[in-house]
Amino acid sequence: MNFRVGFGVDVHQLVEGRDLMIGGVKIESPFGALGHSDSDALLHAICDAILGAAALRDIGYHFPDTDNQYKGIDSKVLLKKSYDLVRSAGYQLGNMDATVMLEAPKLSPYIPKMQQVISEIFEVEEDCISIKATTGEKMGYIGNGEGIKAYCTVLIHQVDKHQI
Ligand code: MG
Repeated sequence: MNFRVGFGVDVHQLVEGRDLMIGGVKIESPFGALGHSDSDALLHAICDAILGAAALRDIGYHFPDTDNQYKGIDSKVLLKKSYDLVRSAGYQLGNMDATVMLEAPKLSPYIPKMQQVISEIFEVEEDCISIKATTGEKMGYIGNGEGIKAYCTVLIHQVDKHQI
C-alpha cells in the first residue's frame, strides 16, 4: 500500500467580538480568532496537512482570502472540499494527530466533540482523530493570549482501485 505523510500549521490572532471556533466546535471564550473565514486554526492546519500529504499545495492556494465566497465560511466546508481534492487524487485518511496551542480556556472538555465532528468529515473511527492541547506557559504570543496556533500531522494511503 502507498502511504504518504503530511504536516500543517496555522495561526490566528485573538480579538474581542469574534467567535472562537476550534475543530468545528464553538468554544466559550471572551476572545475569538480573527480572519477571513470562521478562522478555525485547527481545521485549517488539518486542511494543510492532508493537502500537503497529497502534494496539492495549501489552503490559501485553493481558497484564497481575497475571494469573497470564502468570507465568514464554516471551515468544515473548507475541510470537506480539501478532502474531496485528496480523494480525487486517489487517497484517503489513515489517521491524524494534532496539537492546539492556546493559553485559555482549557480545551480538554471540548476535545471529544471535536473528534466526533472531524471523524464524521473523514468517515473514519474517532480513534483515528487525535487532538491534543497545550499552552504557551505564559510566554510569547500564545502565552500572553494574543494568538492561537495549531499543528497537525496526517497519514494518508492510496485507495485500492477496486474500492473506488
Ligand atoms: Mg487559518
